[in-house]
Amino acid sequence: MSIAAGRESALLETVREKIEAGKRLDAADGLALYGFGDLLALGELAERARQLRGGGDEAYFVRNLTLNQTNVCRVKCRFCAFARSAREEGAYTLSPAELASEAKRAHELEPFNELHLVNGENPHVDFAWYLETVRALREALPGVHLKCYSASEIHHMSMISGLSYAQVLGELKEAGLESLTGGGAEIFSARVRKLIAPGKEPAEAWLEVNRVAHGLGIPTHCTMLYGHVETLEERVDHLLRLRALQDETNGFLAFVPFAVHLENTRLDPDIPTTTAVDVLRTIAVSRLLLDNVAHVKAYWIAMGLPLAQVALHFGADDLQGTVGREQVFHAAGARTETEQTVDRLARYIRAAGRIPVERDTLYNEFRRWNPVSDTVQEVGRMSMGVRDESVTIDPQTIAVPARGVGIRSAEKEVS
Ligand code: SF4
Repeated sequence: MSIAAGRESALLETVREKIEAGKRLDAADGLALYGFGDLLALGELAERARQLRGGGDEAYFVRNLTLNQTNVCRVKCRFCAFARSAREEGAYTLSPAELASEAKRAHELEPFNELHLVNGENPHVDFAWYLETVRALREALPGVHLKCYSASEIHHMSMISGLSYAQVLGELKEAGLESLTGGGAEIFSARVRKLIAPGKEPAEAWLEVNRVAHGLGIPTHCTMLYGHVETLEERVDHLLRLRALQDETNGFLAFVPFAVHLENTRLDPDIPTTTAVDVLRTIAVSRLLLDNVAHVKAYWIAMGLPLAQVALHFGADDLQGTVGREQVFHAAGARTETEQTVDRLARYIRAAGRIPVERDTLYNEFRRWNPVSDTVQEVGRMSMGVRDESVTIDPQTIAVPARGVGIRSAEKEVS
């Protein structure tokens, strides 16, 4: 065995022992794992960690719709191809009524149970516009989970209104908001933020919004945008800062790492495109370090469905969702589809040897596919009658009990 191979094998054993003993990995472990050459062994280790922490054979997805109400943004992140100035060609801002009616129309055509709403930080609207939007959506889609706004947008609302984070979040919650999206985290390092998003709030503010949201009973998501100017140390630091907040609040539902897309952005075009190996490595290291976040998503919009399917063997347990009409990544050159069907997501999950489970935002289960036959079992009540009557319901199908760290199991009710 060469010296390098010997070192790798020793590292693997050290990390494996820690995981088996339920011990926490540290920054040095995270960095060493990033440099680990044997990708398949790294994936196996991440899967082992996922299973030891309660994860089962399930892989989740949600039937959702992504909407953007405005692309007008004051921040001008260098990696963003979505944002526009108010007078720039292609700029748009929908009124609350327009957005709600578009969402309702989309729901009538193709029912969904989660609305994912993110926007540019538009300096030409006020906080009342946001409140009116949430109220209009709540009225238009009474049974749909409203997952609206990133922590960065909450910070923006606080700036334009003069209200505290708690006041902004409290009012939005009262209007109908149920959870926050995970955007805006980027990489927490001040050095990196200055280079890629100098107009964005500091990491401390992003973390504080999430802390306050969790304190108010609003669950949130967390993300990492990587593959630009950050170092591996800065990625590991980012993950550990998320982990520290989760220790405090336990309010993150899932972690979503995504590689940057550079087309049409103001980042250096010579930055090498993120490789599939880096994507899989990042999923695995995230799963290993984030021992207190229940779910790691393989975000197919950024990485493509085939690679997301492989990521299910590197510690990921969620493919996000049907999505509907993604614009942010596609403005930056993503060549992936903009939406998926439930059948296609389920087929890819099953082909990866996992059990497809359709969930809601809070990981309550709606439907579970039979691992061996092409049948589906209803395991929870659909909100808004989100039910595909064309699927075969087999009452004999035995549902495997829900497992997974922190998954809140639904009242099982075959409706
Ligand atoms: S990433 Fe978000 S905050 Fe940054 S410029 Fe784009 S829309 Fe604005």
